[in-house]
Amino acid sequence: MNAEKNKVVSFHYTVTGEDGEVVDNSHERGEPLAVLLGHGNIIPGLEKALEGRAVGDRFDVEIAPEDAYGPRNPEAKQRVPKKYFPGAQKLKVGDVTVLGLKDGGRRVVTVLKVGMTAVDVDLNHPLAGQKLKFDVELIGVRDAEPVELQHRHAHGSGGHAHPEQE
Ligand SMILES: [Zn+2]
Repeated sequence: MNAEKNKVVSFHYTVTGEDGEVVDNSHERGEPLAVLLGHGNIIPGLEKALEGRAVGDRFDVEIAPEDAYGPRNPEAKQRVPKKYFPGAQKLKVGDVTVLGLKDGGRRVVTVLKVGMTAVDVDLNHPLAGQKLKFDVELIGVRDAEPVELQHRHAHGSGGHAHPEQE
């Protein structure tokens, strides 16, 4: 069975940024990441690169910003009241933190300036504008459960956890 849309793939990965520094990897977590393919759960470039691969395949892929976290928008800055940040007192310039949005979503932001009552943040994803290199090892491919297709993400080991159901 090969990796394709609506299959759950599990894989180990190491991501390296343009400066050659490792920005993320699954090995430290111990278990591979499990993802339902074809539903935008991972960056488009990685979905494409996994397509058609077989278990045991190991490959390197370079992904352009357009297929990763998008181009960097220099205008994407915002002043946000401190109350919207968990742990605002400890924030300092350069910190990457998560901002809760009105619609319930979350956004990764970088702190530009900390004022008395507000924090200036860069709304670009920290990896926006960067070409990324992924080193991927495909560990498993399986059919998705109907409930996973309904939720549009993988469950179980390495997948989406639903604490409310446990
Ligand atoms: Zn779910």
